[in-house]
Amino acid sequence: MSQKPEDFFKNIISHSKEYGYIFQSSEIYDGLSAVYDYGQNGAELKKNIREYWWRAMVQMHENIVGIDAAIFMHPTTWKASGHVDAFNDPLIDNKDSKKRYRADVLIEEHVAKIEDKIEKEVEKAKKRFENFDEAMFRSTNARVVEYQNKINDINNRFKNAMNDGNLAEVKQIIVDCEIVDPVSGSRNWTDVRQFNLMFSTAMGSVDGEGSTIYLRPETAQGIFVNYLNVQKTGRMKIPFGIAQTGKAFRNEIVARQFIFRMREFEQMEMQFFCKPGTEKEWYEYWKDARLKWHHSLGLGKENYKFHDHVKLAFYANAASDIEFQFPFGFKELEGIHSRTDYDLKQHEQFSGKKLQYFDPEEGASYVPYVVETSVGLDRLFLSILSAAFKEEKLQDGETRVVLSLPPALAPIKAAVFPLVKKDGLPELAEKIINQLKFDHIVTYDEKDAVGRRYRRQDAIGTPYCITVDHQSLEDGTVTVRHRDTMQQDRIKIEALNDFLNERVSMKSLLKQL
Ligand code: ATP
Repeated sequence: MSQKPEDFFKNIISHSKEYGYIFQSSEIYDGLSAVYDYGQNGAELKKNIREYWWRAMVQMHENIVGIDAAIFMHPTTWKASGHVDAFNDPLIDNKDSKKRYRADVLIEEHVAKIEDKIEKEVEKAKKRFENFDEAMFRSTNARVVEYQNKINDINNRFKNAMNDGNLAEVKQIIVDCEIVDPVSGSRNWTDVRQFNLMFSTAMGSVDGEGSTIYLRPETAQGIFVNYLNVQKTGRMKIPFGIAQTGKAFRNEIVARQFIFRMREFEQMEMQFFCKPGTEKEWYEYWKDARLKWHHSLGLGKENYKFHDHVKLAFYANAASDIEFQFPFGFKELEGIHSRTDYDLKQHEQFSGKKLQYFDPEEGASYVPYVVETSVGLDRLFLSILSAAFKEEKLQDGETRVVLSLPPALAPIKAAVFPLVKKDGLPELAEKIINQLKFDHIVTYDEKDAVGRRYRRQDAIGTPYCITVDHQSLEDGTVTVRHRDTMQQDRIKIEALNDFLNERVSMKSLLKQL
């Protein structure tokens, strides 16, 4: 990447708009913050990603089924899950700029700056000394040790403050670290307050406490409350999984970075119910399986890494994120959590209903343990878009913008062009469209020179362009131009369906799993 990461990211955002992938919500009214709409190409790409996930989960596993639960749930669900009492972020305002921040993010960013300083010292020393021993340097260099101590001190203070719910101490950390508002440069902060991230509304015509209802902040609870319904009606035997995709809503305090953090977004979650004591095995299994799924997209294995959680939520006994290298650095893409029997036990307690499974092999009943995989569809979309977006210098000195999307996920699979708008070529092109459209989304384009038509399709990410020329009328062949290599082959018209099916169907991805 020759340009600065922030410029590269800006280019992706404007490209998304220019080519009908993503628009700001209600743009004609100047937009709604952190809410986005998917355009004609974005909707297709998103649908294809969702379908690939669904098929990989439900179609490829005999013991996984899918459901579609409502967004609204009984309000007690969110009491039981802990979201009413604990789904909070600490927020702080700067009195001069009137900007609002997440206190934890301000502190994290401050720590990251100190970490950068350490990295710089290490880099400098690496260049200076031959046979450089990094571990040794980190533990003995006075400046590095001082920085590291500072980081440990801040992290410990912050962890304790959050555990104790001591928001005054969180503010004190910001004051002691002399953190300034990036907009106003001032240190004129308000106190820190807790802010619940759930959106609420009222159900029916009665207003008041009793009718408060929430927009779900995660899809998982719809699975937990239905687990026995599915188990019984589907005669599922443990271990089994329930998958679901759907909208979730979080009133994020600071929503930035395009579709990375939105207030309305979509999740794809799978809860895997297993026998207590086997959860660690399944946790490892799902970590591997999910990484393999991401790798199958062909966006570069080096773009993914695990980040195992050291500090676990009290109900989890293992947790890891799959991080992706976004244009703004490695960030969480998917979470894999071993959640024990916490959620089901909570729902038993709050509903007063038994949520046990009778294990015929054990001859005993128990509340299953759960391993969950949870990925944001929009974040996944952004990861694919940012890895696929390329500005290439061509041999003739021109540049082209190409979206090297995995062919099976591309919104349009092939574009058909008549070389010229006469001599019966448009008619033959239409015939080819009619032959292909039962299998795939294909498009027709006869405007401008063929080279420009190629560029338009490259920018959308269409993997194949099929050109009908005069030779086609004589021998029934067309040229097929490959998006990534720009190579062209001559292919018989009747072989086109097979050619595409082999390369752009979901099967081509699923076979790699
Ligand atoms: P983060 O730390 O980034 O806020 P999280 O740990 O709260 O995320 P989870 O609750 O584990 O996220 O949700 C599972 C997945 O849902 C995340 O890995 C992410 O892909 C997606 N996700 C969560 N919040 C958002 C959001 N506001 N916008 C888009 N995707 C989101």
